[in-house]
Amino acid sequence: MSIIWSEVSTDVIDRAEKIMRRHHSELLGEVSIGFVFRSQAVFSMGKLVLAKIAKVPPKLMPFMKYDLIVWIAEDQYSKLSSEQRDALIDHELCHIEYDSVDEKLSLVGHDIEEFHEIIARYGAWNSSLQYLTTHAEQLQLPISSKNTDNAEALVGSVADGLEISMMDSVEAGS
Ligand SMILES: [Zn+2]
Repeated sequence: MSIIWSEVSTDVIDRAEKIMRRHHSELLGEVSIGFVFRSQAVFSMGKLVLAKIAKVPPKLMPFMKYDLIVWIAEDQYSKLSSEQRDALIDHELCHIEYDSVDEKLSLVGHDIEEFHEIIARYGAWNSSLQYLTTHAEQLQLPISSKNTDNAEALVGSVADGLEISMMDSVEAGS
C-alpha cells in the first residue's frame, strides 16, 4: 500500500503547543516546526519507527515556512494513550537544540540507547541507564500511593516511552 502524507489532526498541534510552552519555551518564536501524518509507520533496522524529525534542506527553505519537519505515523499514533502521545511529541522536540546567541539550529541524539539484550544481561550498567532506573522508580512513587490503577498505567507508559525513544530516528537535513 502506498504511503499517504496528510495534515496532522488538531490533537497533535494542541499537544505540541502545550508541550513547547511547558518544556521547550526556548524554541517558541525561534524555530518553526511543521507536523505531518504519514499513513503508516516504517520499519527501519528491525524497529517500528513512530516518528521522525528532519531539518528542512536549505535548498527548500525558500518554499517553506518551516525549519523542521516532524512526521508521525498516523496508524500507530491513533493507538497511543494520551500520555504516550505527549511522550512521543515531547521526545521529538527533545531532538531540537537551538542556540539563540548564534541562532544555530541542530538536532541531537538520544541520551539513552541500549539493546534489550544488554540490559537483560548487565542491567543498568552505565550512567544514562542508571538515570533511567532512578527516575522511572521516582515517577511511580507518588501515584502508587494514591491509585494502583494509575500506577500501572504510568508504569506501562514509562516502559513504552523507552520503546518509543528507541523507535524513532533523526534524519539530518542536507
Ligand atoms: Zn528520538
